[in-house]
Amino acid sequence: MLGRRAHLQPGLDHQGAPAVSDQNRVIAFYDERMLAHEPDIEAPFLPGRMDTRIRSLLSGLGVPWKYPEHPARLTAIRHFLELEPVPGVTFEAGVAATREQLARVHTLSYLDSIFQLRGKSAWLDVDTTAVSPGSVEAAEVAAGTAIAAVEAVIEGRAESSFALVRPPGHHAEPVRARGFCLFNNVAVAAAHAQAILGCERVMIVDWDAHHGNGTQDIFWADPDVLLFDIHRGAPFYPGTGSLEEVGVGLGDGTNVNVPLPADAGDAAYLKAFREILVPAAKCFRPDLILVSAGFDPHSHDLALNVSYDGFAAMTGILQALAREQCGGRLVFVLEGGYNLISLSRGVSAVLRVLAGEAPPEPGQRGIAEVEAAAAFHRGAFLG
Ligand SMILES: [Zn+2]
Repeated sequence: MLGRRAHLQPGLDHQGAPAVSDQNRVIAFYDERMLAHEPDIEAPFLPGRMDTRIRSLLSGLGVPWKYPEHPARLTAIRHFLELEPVPGVTFEAGVAATREQLARVHTLSYLDSIFQLRGKSAWLDVDTTAVSPGSVEAAEVAAGTAIAAVEAVIEGRAESSFALVRPPGHHAEPVRARGFCLFNNVAVAAAHAQAILGCERVMIVDWDAHHGNGTQDIFWADPDVLLFDIHRGAPFYPGTGSLEEVGVGLGDGTNVNVPLPADAGDAAYLKAFREILVPAAKCFRPDLILVSAGFDPHSHDLALNVSYDGFAAMTGILQALAREQCGGRLVFVLEGGYNLISLSRGVSAVLRVLAGEAPPEPGQRGIAEVEAAAAFHRGAFLG
Protein backbone atom coordinates (compact mmCIF):
# COMPACT_ATOMS: atom_id res chain seq x y z
CA MET A 1 0.00 0.00 0.00
CA LEU A 2 2.64 2.50 1.05
CA GLY A 3 4.99 1.03 -1.52
CA ARG A 4 2.62 1.86 -4.33
CA ARG A 5 2.08 5.32 -2.91
CA ALA A 6 5.85 5.84 -3.04
CA HIS A 7 5.65 5.70 -6.85
CA LEU A 8 4.00 9.11 -6.85
CA GLN A 9 6.21 11.97 -7.98
CA PRO A 10 8.20 13.65 -5.20
CA GLY A 11 6.36 16.77 -4.15
CA LEU A 12 2.96 15.33 -5.03
CA ASP A 13 2.26 14.30 -1.50
CA HIS A 14 -1.17 12.77 -0.91
CA GLN A 15 -2.31 15.46 1.50
CA GLY A 16 -0.08 18.29 0.35
CA ALA A 17 -0.34 21.17 -2.05
CA PRO A 18 0.29 20.56 -5.75
CA ALA A 19 3.93 20.65 -6.79
CA VAL A 20 3.22 22.63 -9.97
CA SER A 21 4.45 26.17 -9.62
CA ASP A 22 1.48 27.58 -11.53
CA GLN A 23 -1.38 26.12 -9.55
CA ASN A 24 -4.02 26.77 -12.17
CA ARG A 25 -2.21 25.44 -15.21
CA VAL A 26 -4.67 23.41 -17.28
CA ILE A 27 -3.97 21.22 -20.31
CA ALA A 28 -6.77 20.39 -22.75
CA PHE A 29 -6.16 17.39 -25.00
CA TYR A 30 -7.55 17.36 -28.53
CA ASP A 31 -6.67 15.16 -31.50
CA GLU A 32 -8.11 15.27 -35.02
CA ARG A 33 -7.85 11.48 -35.40
CA MET A 34 -11.03 11.31 -33.33
CA LEU A 35 -12.92 13.12 -36.10
CA ALA A 36 -12.62 10.04 -38.34
CA HIS A 37 -15.28 8.22 -36.30
CA GLU A 38 -18.33 9.13 -38.35
CA PRO A 39 -20.96 6.40 -38.63
CA ASP A 40 -23.29 7.26 -41.50
CA ILE A 41 -26.56 5.37 -41.41
CA GLU A 42 -26.89 5.79 -45.19
CA ALA A 43 -23.60 3.94 -45.75
CA PRO A 44 -23.62 0.19 -46.39
CA PHE A 45 -22.86 -1.67 -43.18
CA LEU A 46 -21.57 -5.20 -42.72
CA PRO A 47 -24.41 -7.53 -43.73
CA GLY A 48 -25.98 -9.56 -40.99
CA ARG A 49 -28.80 -9.84 -38.50
CA MET A 50 -27.72 -6.66 -36.71
CA ASP A 51 -27.98 -4.58 -39.86
CA THR A 52 -31.45 -5.91 -40.57
CA ARG A 53 -32.65 -5.32 -37.00
CA ILE A 54 -31.28 -1.77 -36.80
CA ARG A 55 -32.72 -0.81 -40.16
CA SER A 56 -36.15 -2.06 -39.13
CA LEU A 57 -35.86 -0.09 -35.85
CA LEU A 58 -34.87 3.09 -37.69
CA SER A 59 -37.57 2.73 -40.32
CA GLY A 60 -40.10 2.35 -37.51
CA LEU A 61 -39.21 5.77 -36.12
CA GLY A 62 -41.15 7.53 -38.84
CA VAL A 63 -38.72 10.46 -38.82
CA PRO A 64 -35.23 10.83 -40.32
CA TRP A 65 -32.57 9.73 -37.85
CA LYS A 66 -28.96 10.91 -37.87
CA TYR A 67 -26.15 9.53 -35.75
CA PRO A 68 -26.15 12.05 -32.86
CA GLU A 69 -22.58 11.40 -31.74
CA HIS A 70 -20.79 13.05 -34.68
CA PRO A 71 -17.41 14.77 -35.33
CA ALA A 72 -18.87 18.30 -35.10
CA ARG A 73 -19.19 17.79 -31.34
CA LEU A 74 -15.41 18.07 -31.00
CA THR A 75 -14.85 20.72 -33.66
CA ALA A 76 -17.56 22.91 -32.11
CA ILE A 77 -15.73 22.82 -28.77
CA ARG A 78 -12.40 23.55 -30.42
CA HIS A 79 -13.80 26.46 -32.45
CA PHE A 80 -15.53 27.95 -29.41
CA LEU A 81 -12.29 27.82 -27.41
CA GLU A 82 -10.46 29.48 -30.32
CA LEU A 83 -13.04 32.26 -30.44
CA GLU A 84 -13.08 32.70 -26.67
CA PRO A 85 -9.77 31.34 -25.34
CA VAL A 86 -9.55 30.56 -21.65
CA PRO A 87 -6.35 32.09 -20.20
CA GLY A 88 -4.18 29.43 -18.58
CA VAL A 89 -5.42 26.60 -20.82
CA THR A 90 -2.97 25.10 -23.33
CA PHE A 91 -3.67 22.38 -25.90
CA GLU A 92 -1.81 19.14 -26.50
CA ALA A 93 -2.35 16.32 -28.99
CA GLY A 94 -3.66 12.92 -27.92
CA VAL A 95 -2.11 9.46 -27.91
CA ALA A 96 -3.49 6.10 -29.05
CA ALA A 97 -4.04 3.52 -26.30
CA THR A 98 -2.27 0.17 -26.61
CA ARG A 99 -3.99 -3.20 -26.58
CA GLU A 100 -2.42 -3.83 -23.17
CA GLN A 101 -3.86 -0.59 -21.75
CA LEU A 102 -7.34 -1.35 -23.11
CA ALA A 103 -7.16 -4.93 -21.84
CA ARG A 104 -7.13 -3.72 -18.23
CA VAL A 105 -10.89 -3.15 -18.53
CA HIS A 106 -11.97 -5.05 -21.68
CA THR A 107 -11.56 -8.73 -22.52
CA LEU A 108 -9.02 -9.70 -25.18
CA SER A 109 -11.71 -11.38 -27.26
CA TYR A 110 -13.78 -8.18 -27.23
CA LEU A 111 -10.76 -6.13 -28.26
CA ASP A 112 -9.95 -8.52 -31.10
CA SER A 113 -13.52 -8.36 -32.38
CA ILE A 114 -13.36 -4.55 -32.39
CA PHE A 115 -9.91 -4.47 -34.01
CA GLN A 116 -11.23 -6.67 -36.83
CA LEU A 117 -13.57 -3.81 -37.76
CA ARG A 118 -10.68 -1.48 -38.65
CA GLY A 119 -11.44 0.09 -42.04
CA LYS A 120 -15.05 -1.16 -42.09
CA SER A 121 -18.57 0.11 -41.44
CA ALA A 122 -20.65 -2.00 -39.07
CA TRP A 123 -23.47 -1.89 -36.54
CA LEU A 124 -22.28 -3.22 -33.18
CA ASP A 125 -25.36 -3.09 -31.03
CA VAL A 126 -29.11 -2.68 -31.22
CA ASP A 127 -28.83 0.59 -29.31
CA THR A 128 -27.36 2.02 -32.50
CA THR A 129 -23.65 1.89 -31.71
CA ALA A 130 -21.79 1.74 -35.02
CA VAL A 131 -18.36 2.17 -36.57
CA SER A 132 -17.04 3.75 -39.76
CA PRO A 133 -13.62 2.98 -41.34
CA GLY A 134 -11.77 5.41 -39.01
CA SER A 135 -13.61 4.50 -35.81
CA VAL A 136 -11.27 1.94 -34.29
CA GLU A 137 -8.29 4.30 -34.39
CA ALA A 138 -10.50 7.16 -33.10
CA ALA A 139 -11.55 4.99 -30.14
CA GLU A 140 -7.94 4.00 -29.45
CA VAL A 141 -6.99 7.69 -29.45
CA ALA A 142 -9.94 8.58 -27.18
CA ALA A 143 -8.86 6.06 -24.55
CA GLY A 144 -5.16 6.86 -24.91
CA THR A 145 -5.87 10.57 -24.63
CA ALA A 146 -7.68 10.01 -21.35
CA ILE A 147 -4.50 8.27 -20.16
CA ALA A 148 -2.37 11.19 -21.41
CA ALA A 149 -4.56 13.62 -19.46
CA VAL A 150 -3.99 11.61 -16.28
CA GLU A 151 -0.24 11.40 -16.89
CA ALA A 152 -0.07 15.20 -17.30
CA VAL A 153 -1.40 15.82 -13.79
CA ILE A 154 0.51 12.96 -12.16
CA GLU A 155 3.74 14.29 -13.72
CA GLY A 156 2.88 17.74 -12.35
CA ARG A 157 2.80 19.40 -15.77
CA ALA A 158 -0.67 20.69 -14.94
CA GLU A 159 -2.88 20.75 -11.88
CA SER A 160 -5.88 19.64 -13.91
CA SER A 161 -6.59 18.49 -17.45
CA PHE A 162 -9.47 17.87 -19.81
CA ALA A 163 -9.46 15.06 -22.41
CA LEU A 164 -11.78 16.28 -25.19
CA VAL A 165 -12.51 12.88 -26.65
CA ARG A 166 -14.97 10.90 -28.72
CA PRO A 167 -16.37 8.32 -29.14
CA PRO A 168 -17.44 8.61 -25.49
CA GLY A 169 -16.86 5.72 -23.10
CA HIS A 170 -19.00 5.35 -20.00
CA HIS A 171 -21.58 2.98 -21.52
CA ALA A 172 -18.92 0.55 -22.83
CA GLU A 173 -18.81 -2.66 -20.81
CA PRO A 174 -15.96 -5.21 -20.61
CA VAL A 175 -17.45 -7.20 -23.50
CA ARG A 176 -19.98 -4.88 -25.11
CA ALA A 177 -20.00 -1.64 -27.10
CA ARG A 178 -23.17 0.35 -26.55
CA GLY A 179 -24.59 3.84 -26.22
CA PHE A 180 -22.18 5.29 -28.84
CA CYS A 181 -19.24 3.97 -26.75
CA LEU A 182 -16.55 1.50 -27.91
CA PHE A 183 -13.88 1.61 -25.19
CA ASN A 184 -14.51 2.88 -21.66
CA ASN A 185 -12.11 5.82 -21.72
CA VAL A 186 -12.43 6.90 -18.09
CA ALA A 187 -12.09 3.32 -16.86
CA VAL A 188 -8.99 2.77 -19.01
CA ALA A 189 -7.50 5.94 -17.51
CA ALA A 190 -8.36 4.91 -13.94
CA ALA A 191 -6.88 1.43 -14.42
CA HIS A 192 -3.71 2.93 -15.91
CA ALA A 193 -3.36 5.32 -12.96
CA GLN A 194 -3.56 2.36 -10.60
CA ALA A 195 -1.37 -0.06 -12.55
CA ILE A 196 1.42 2.27 -13.67
CA LEU A 197 1.21 5.67 -11.99
CA GLY A 198 1.08 4.71 -8.32
CA CYS A 199 -2.48 5.81 -7.59
CA GLU A 200 -3.94 3.35 -5.16
CA ARG A 201 -7.47 4.74 -4.91
CA VAL A 202 -9.25 6.52 -7.75
CA MET A 203 -12.57 8.34 -7.53
CA ILE A 204 -14.70 8.68 -10.66
CA VAL A 205 -17.45 11.31 -10.71
CA ASP A 206 -19.94 10.77 -13.56
CA TRP A 207 -22.23 13.77 -14.06
CA ASP A 208 -23.43 12.82 -17.57
CA ALA A 209 -27.24 12.78 -17.88
CA HIS A 210 -27.11 9.02 -18.51
CA HIS A 211 -25.98 6.41 -15.99
CA GLY A 212 -22.43 5.15 -16.58
CA ASN A 213 -23.43 1.51 -16.69
CA GLY A 214 -20.13 0.42 -18.22
CA THR A 215 -17.97 2.13 -15.60
CA GLN A 216 -20.17 0.69 -12.86
CA ASP A 217 -19.89 -2.79 -14.37
CA ILE A 218 -16.08 -2.63 -14.70
CA PHE A 219 -15.47 -1.54 -11.09
CA TRP A 220 -18.50 -3.27 -9.54
CA ALA A 221 -16.46 -5.37 -7.09
CA ASP A 222 -13.38 -3.11 -6.88
CA PRO A 223 -12.88 -1.46 -3.46
CA ASP A 224 -10.18 0.88 -4.82
CA VAL A 225 -12.40 2.74 -7.30
CA LEU A 226 -15.22 4.86 -5.91
CA LEU A 227 -17.84 5.68 -8.56
CA PHE A 228 -20.23 8.54 -7.82
CA ASP A 229 -22.81 8.69 -10.60
CA ILE A 230 -25.59 11.30 -10.74
CA HIS A 231 -27.99 10.92 -13.66
CA ARG A 232 -31.60 10.89 -14.79
CA GLY A 233 -33.04 7.68 -13.40
CA ALA A 234 -34.70 4.71 -15.11
CA PRO A 235 -36.48 4.22 -17.42
CA PHE A 236 -34.24 6.86 -18.99
CA TYR A 237 -31.38 5.21 -20.97
CA PRO A 238 -29.64 2.91 -20.09
CA GLY A 239 -32.12 1.99 -17.33
CA THR A 240 -29.52 1.15 -14.66
CA GLY A 241 -28.18 3.27 -11.81
CA SER A 242 -30.65 2.75 -8.97
CA LEU A 243 -29.82 3.63 -5.37
CA GLU A 244 -29.59 -0.04 -4.47
CA GLU A 245 -26.73 -0.68 -6.92
CA VAL A 246 -23.90 -0.19 -4.40
CA GLY A 247 -21.29 -2.70 -5.57
CA VAL A 248 -20.62 -6.22 -4.37
CA GLY A 249 -18.04 -8.21 -2.43
CA LEU A 250 -14.97 -6.14 -1.59
CA GLY A 251 -16.50 -3.32 -3.63
CA ASP A 252 -19.66 -3.18 -1.55
CA GLY A 253 -20.33 0.51 -0.87
CA THR A 254 -17.94 1.95 -3.44
CA ASN A 255 -20.65 2.48 -6.04
CA VAL A 256 -22.83 5.49 -5.29
CA ASN A 257 -25.77 6.24 -7.57
CA VAL A 258 -27.97 9.33 -7.36
CA PRO A 259 -30.88 8.91 -9.81
CA LEU A 260 -32.87 12.09 -10.47
CA PRO A 261 -36.27 12.84 -11.99
CA ALA A 262 -36.64 14.60 -15.34
CA ASP A 263 -35.75 18.30 -15.31
CA ALA A 264 -33.82 18.20 -12.02
CA GLY A 265 -31.23 20.95 -12.16
CA ASP A 266 -28.49 22.91 -10.42
CA ALA A 267 -29.95 22.79 -6.92
CA ALA A 268 -30.31 18.98 -6.96
CA TYR A 269 -26.87 18.40 -8.48
CA LEU A 270 -25.15 20.73 -6.00
CA LYS A 271 -27.02 19.30 -3.02
CA ALA A 272 -25.92 15.81 -4.05
CA PHE A 273 -22.34 16.97 -4.50
CA ARG A 274 -22.21 18.71 -1.11
CA GLU A 275 -24.15 16.16 0.94
CA ILE A 276 -23.18 12.84 -0.69
CA LEU A 277 -20.14 13.19 -2.97
CA VAL A 278 -17.93 15.30 -0.69
CA PRO A 279 -18.45 13.17 2.47
CA ALA A 280 -17.96 9.97 0.44
CA ALA A 281 -14.70 11.30 -1.01
CA LYS A 282 -13.40 12.34 2.41
CA CYS A 283 -14.07 8.84 3.68
CA PHE A 284 -12.52 7.18 0.61
CA ARG A 285 -9.44 9.48 0.37
CA PRO A 286 -8.71 9.24 -3.36
CA ASP A 287 -5.25 9.72 -4.88
CA LEU A 288 -6.83 11.04 -8.08
CA ILE A 289 -10.27 12.31 -9.13
CA LEU A 290 -11.56 11.63 -12.65
CA VAL A 291 -14.73 13.15 -14.04
CA SER A 292 -16.92 11.57 -16.71
CA ALA A 293 -18.09 14.96 -17.90
CA GLY A 294 -21.14 14.85 -20.10
CA PHE A 295 -22.91 18.08 -20.94
CA ASP A 296 -26.28 16.52 -21.72
CA PRO A 297 -27.63 17.47 -18.25
CA HIS A 298 -27.90 20.99 -19.76
CA SER A 299 -31.47 22.02 -20.52
CA HIS A 300 -30.72 22.20 -24.28
CA ASP A 301 -30.52 18.39 -24.37
CA LEU A 302 -34.02 18.11 -22.85
CA ALA A 303 -33.34 15.55 -20.10
CA LEU A 304 -32.25 17.60 -17.09
CA ASN A 305 -31.89 21.28 -16.28
CA VAL A 306 -28.29 22.04 -15.32
CA SER A 307 -26.99 25.50 -16.31
CA TYR A 308 -23.52 26.70 -17.27
CA ASP A 309 -23.20 28.17 -13.79
CA GLY A 310 -24.19 24.75 -12.42
CA PHE A 311 -21.36 23.02 -14.32
CA ALA A 312 -18.98 25.73 -13.08
CA ALA A 313 -20.12 25.35 -9.47
CA MET A 314 -19.73 21.55 -9.61
CA THR A 315 -16.23 22.04 -10.99
CA GLY A 316 -15.45 24.40 -8.12
CA ILE A 317 -16.53 21.79 -5.57
CA LEU A 318 -14.42 19.10 -7.26
CA GLN A 319 -11.40 21.41 -7.51
CA ALA A 320 -11.56 22.25 -3.79
CA LEU A 321 -12.04 18.57 -2.96
CA ALA A 322 -9.10 17.51 -5.12
CA ARG A 323 -6.86 20.14 -3.53
CA GLU A 324 -7.83 18.93 -0.08
CA GLN A 325 -7.63 15.21 -0.82
CA CYS A 326 -5.09 14.57 -3.57
CA GLY A 327 -2.86 17.53 -4.34
CA GLY A 328 -5.39 19.02 -6.76
CA ARG A 329 -5.14 16.13 -9.25
CA LEU A 330 -8.37 16.41 -11.23
CA VAL A 331 -8.90 15.05 -14.75
CA PHE A 332 -11.98 15.57 -16.92
CA VAL A 333 -12.90 13.15 -19.69
CA LEU A 334 -15.65 14.16 -22.12
CA GLU A 335 -18.72 11.90 -22.33
CA GLY A 336 -22.04 13.02 -23.90
CA GLY A 337 -23.66 16.31 -24.81
CA TYR A 338 -25.33 16.64 -28.18
CA ASN A 339 -26.44 20.26 -28.48
CA LEU A 340 -23.33 21.91 -29.87
CA ILE A 341 -23.91 25.25 -28.14
CA SER A 342 -24.39 23.90 -24.63
CA LEU A 343 -21.62 21.33 -25.19
CA SER A 344 -19.09 24.02 -26.16
CA ARG A 345 -20.13 26.54 -23.55
CA GLY A 346 -20.31 23.85 -20.87
CA VAL A 347 -16.73 22.75 -21.56
CA SER A 348 -15.65 26.40 -21.47
CA ALA A 349 -17.42 26.96 -18.12
CA VAL A 350 -15.50 24.02 -16.63
CA LEU A 351 -12.14 25.14 -18.05
CA ARG A 352 -12.60 28.69 -16.69
CA VAL A 353 -12.97 27.38 -13.15
CA LEU A 354 -10.07 24.96 -13.55
CA ALA A 355 -7.95 27.89 -14.77
CA GLY A 356 -8.75 30.01 -11.74
CA GLU A 357 -12.04 31.88 -12.21
CA ALA A 358 -14.25 31.86 -9.14
CA PRO A 359 -17.37 29.79 -9.87
CA PRO A 360 -20.59 31.82 -9.73
CA GLU A 361 -23.43 30.79 -7.44
CA PRO A 362 -26.12 29.34 -9.72
CA GLY A 363 -29.43 31.17 -9.81
CA GLN A 364 -27.88 34.53 -8.92
CA ARG A 365 -27.47 35.97 -12.43
CA GLY A 366 -29.21 39.35 -12.53
CA ILE A 367 -29.94 39.50 -8.80
CA ALA A 368 -27.52 42.41 -8.26
CA GLU A 369 -29.17 44.27 -11.16
CA VAL A 370 -32.63 43.68 -9.69
CA GLU A 371 -31.47 45.00 -6.32
CA ALA A 372 -30.07 48.10 -8.04
CA ALA A 373 -33.32 48.53 -9.97
CA ALA A 374 -35.34 48.15 -6.78
CA ALA A 375 -33.25 50.88 -5.17
CA PHE A 376 -33.72 53.06 -8.25
CA HIS A 377 -37.50 52.68 -8.30
CA ARG A 378 -37.96 52.77 -4.55
CA GLY A 379 -38.76 56.48 -4.46
CA ALA A 380 -41.62 56.05 -6.93
CA PHE A 381 -43.43 53.20 -5.20
CA LEU A 382 -42.18 52.80 -1.67
CA GLY A 383 -41.94 56.36 -0.50
ZN1 LIG B 1 -25.17 11.06 -21.78
